[in-house]
Amino acid sequence: MATYSCRSREELRMEAKKLMERYENLRHENLKLDMSRGKPSKLQLDLVSDMLTVLTDPAECIIDGEDSRNYGNLAGLQCAREYWADVLGCKPSETFVGGNASLHLMHSLISWGYTHGLKDSPKPWCKEEKIKFLCPSPGYDRHFRITESFGFELITVPMTPWGPDMDIVEELVQDPSVKGIWCVPKYSNPQGYTYSDQTVDRFANLKPAAPDFVIMWDNAYCVHEFEGEFEPFRDIISLCAQAGRPNMVYEFASTSKITFPGAGISVMASSEENIAYMQKLISAQTISYDKINQLRHVKYLKDREHTCQLMKRHAEIMAPKFHLVLKILRKQLTNKGIAHWHHPNGGYFVCVAAMPGTAKRTLELCAKAGVKLTEAGATFPYGVDPLDSFIRIAPSLPPIEELEKAMHVFCTSLRLAALEKYLGLTLI
Ligand code: PLP
Repeated sequence: MATYSCRSREELRMEAKKLMERYENLRHENLKLDMSRGKPSKLQLDLVSDMLTVLTDPAECIIDGEDSRNYGNLAGLQCAREYWADVLGCKPSETFVGGNASLHLMHSLISWGYTHGLKDSPKPWCKEEKIKFLCPSPGYDRHFRITESFGFELITVPMTPWGPDMDIVEELVQDPSVKGIWCVPKYSNPQGYTYSDQTVDRFANLKPAAPDFVIMWDNAYCVHEFEGEFEPFRDIISLCAQAGRPNMVYEFASTSKITFPGAGISVMASSEENIAYMQKLISAQTISYDKINQLRHVKYLKDREHTCQLMKRHAEIMAPKFHLVLKILRKQLTNKGIAHWHHPNGGYFVCVAAMPGTAKRTLELCAKAGVKLTEAGATFPYGVDPLDSFIRIAPSLPPIEELEKAMHVFCTSLRLAALEKYLGLTLI
């Protein structure tokens, strides 16, 4: 089948006529479908709801002599620190187990950097004339929003299938006002790329000009395969230590997409020196986090091995949805030269790169037909995709029948948007 660019104007008009009819039929179904955010489905929440009753007896709240019902242990219950060390491959003493969500820890870290400075900061960031932060894009909108909210200048770094473009990163970190970078090393949000070993090595060996440059290593999808076996990842904390900059990285993770989003437990991991420094600062903020929830999670999830078994059951629910999305994309969009995408093995998203200049219009057409997706541009700093190309699809939440409908609307809309571009017309 010829790509759109090889077809005659007449052929494109015929294709448009057929698609406009299909679009109108879909529009008349009065759909109300949401593929905008990466939330687990009700089935997945039900799958883990046994966790609600793992603690029934007050005696169970006492673990290794620690009473999880009381104040204390700001860095988390020892068993929770051991759990996260096992999952992340670091030492328990390098972990700080926080509250319900990792974004809160990320925001806190940036906020403490701003008001007080990080461990190796010559002065608090608020006293610096200018702060810049690197944002590999497409990336996670909420990361970018944290650094934007402090007035930092966000600098886009292109993503490649092996991670951020490291030639560009290595060059940009020569600027002392560049204080950090956002990273999602495994099944990145939104493209589902996993950083190569070489990329990870280059991160560990970065030589930034700023002594307090921070790698925000958000390992949000560290055990989130929906296809194939668990893919091991390297311990960035020891790699940075070996390269002589032990304080350069903070790693984050949570159980948001293992148990309950917003009601899970989170972790921040870094050098012991960094953890001690942050613990002191955080002690001005809270006496301790919810250790009953920490204990509930440790009892339920046990260790990495057991958590990976549970993730296989999540995968049984997730995989058919991703397969359906990829099948419809393949059937409706291949060989037209108007979109491409990556087939991830884990994470929560599929990211479609539409023909430049058509992402916004595609989403506009989807919205008119009752299908909501993540806003065009959201995966770039300041919400602006310079190519107007990337669209994030989050297949996890809707039931499979709804997902199928939504994908038909999506592909029809994307094709119409591309045809409008080729024909120089507004069709709908
Ligand atoms: N980090 C990434 C890369 C995410 O995609 C998400 C949620 O979609 C989060 C963090 C949110 O994690 P939490 O619920 O622990 O704040």
